[in-house]
Amino acid sequence: MSDLSTKEIVKKYGFRFTKSLGQNFLIDDSVLMDIVEGANVSSEDLIIEIGPGVGTLTKELLKRAKKVFSIELDADLIPILKEELKEFNNFDLIHKDALKVDFNSLTGEEKSIKVVANLPYYVTTPIIAKLLNDKFNFKSLTIMIQKEVAERIAADPNTKEYGALSILVQYYCDTEIVRKVAPSSFIPQPKVDSIVIKLNKLEKPRVIVKDEKLFFRVSREAFNMRRKTLWNALKALKIGSDLMEKAFINARIDSKRRGETLSLQEFADLSNAIYDLNQ
Ligand code: SAM
Repeated sequence: MSDLSTKEIVKKYGFRFTKSLGQNFLIDDSVLMDIVEGANVSSEDLIIEIGPGVGTLTKELLKRAKKVFSIELDADLIPILKEELKEFNNFDLIHKDALKVDFNSLTGEEKSIKVVANLPYYVTTPIIAKLLNDKFNFKSLTIMIQKEVAERIAADPNTKEYGALSILVQYYCDTEIVRKVAPSSFIPQPKVDSIVIKLNKLEKPRVIVKDEKLFFRVSREAFNMRRKTLWNALKALKIGSDLMEKAFINARIDSKRRGETLSLQEFADLSNAIYDLNQ
């Protein structure tokens, strides 16, 4: 690549890193390329990038995509990005907190939307949850995240990593690990190992759920008190023991089990049984 490297751009502008904004910039070209290739970016795609930093990943996205919207919170990075990426007319820079962006109105009727990002780690889970809960119409998310969050996302039942985040992501998406990334691929180096993970949105959710709010509430409560039986953990739902007992019978689930043993289908069965009894 003849373009300026991350280190060169940081030096050119005397940029100072803000730790609290999760600023660990990529300096490894092989990781950049694996992210872009993993995301399978084409000239049909509208890309949403969260946290462009000094724009090294952004530039590779701009070369391949129809359009790139990059959302950056740090005001000091805005003039750098404008200057370094001024040759591209398919670039739109949004100076905002990604958690406050209305992604659906930003992208309108676009058909092929992909999110590609080296995420700021202090907000990884809220950003993923927002993109899914807001029913944002993306095809895939290709994101660099902490290794332990990637493990929670892809976890199977009966593991300590399995929890409400696994349920949320697996309900909407297939997960695919693109690669591992060592701390030495960043400046400054993070204290944790990282993983590039791709979440491919399913055409329809993985299991049939009659009331999504209830489904997610049941799973959250079940994991809130992981060491307790479902019977005890789900008292927090406050729906009465008669109804609860019938719901467990109808869903054919033993109330003495712990939440972490239930598959997505079983969480759906239990919440659907509660829903039906409430009608
Ligand atoms: N994409 C660059 C790279 O790969 O080198 C930078 C990635 S760095 C891990 C995360 C970026 O997200 C930083 O530029 C940081 O300023 C930005 N950021 C932090 N919090 C943010 C937020 N709430 N909304 C948007 N951007 C944010």
